[in-house]
Amino acid sequence: MGKVLIHPTAIVDKTAKIGEGTKIWHFVYVREHAKVGKNCVLGHAVYVDRNVKIGNRVKLENRANLYDGVTIEDDVFVGPHVTFTNDLCPRSFSADWKIVPTLVKKGASIGAGSVVVCGLTLGEYAMVGAGSVVTCNVPPHALVFGNPARIRRFVCVCGRNLVEEKKQAKSVLMTCMSCGRKFGIPRGDFEKIWKEERVCP
Ligand SMILES: [Zn+2]
Repeated sequence: MGKVLIHPTAIVDKTAKIGEGTKIWHFVYVREHAKVGKNCVLGHAVYVDRNVKIGNRVKLENRANLYDGVTIEDDVFVGPHVTFTNDLCPRSFSADWKIVPTLVKKGASIGAGSVVVCGLTLGEYAMVGAGSVVTCNVPPHALVFGNPARIRRFVCVCGRNLVEEKKQAKSVLMTCMSCGRKFGIPRGDFEKIWKEERVCP
């Protein structure tokens, strides 16, 4: 505990701040003024652009790309090859482009190969299924997947499905069948569950 591990092949700019206990593996690039919290793991060839802020206990899997404007809170999982964007109207020749920020809140997970379009907030303990393209804000505890990613159900802190127990005035009481935790999901979020889900045979 405490010691920062930076593999000799990684490049960490001298203006970047790295919290204690963090491990930075082969060929990672952490750029100017980026901030990485404590006890994080940055896997092979992760790219952390300038000014990116990363909380504590965050896992960035191999080749995740985090561009300027991205903020990642504590306990977030970013799967391999996940890419964030930071420009809503990209042109190679535009002279006045603005960085559009993205926020990933505590405990959220983003599955392998997903793309998160900029300007969005992914709520606490939200989960993005592998290969998704996220184009809308994701409410806390929502599981979204697909292209465009749609809300499919709600999940627990432990990552397992929440089951509806009863509807209340402003929320739906949901229970985790795995660990028994209960959550009040706002009805406005619950009603956004995509109805025409097709499941694999
Ligand atoms: Zn649970």
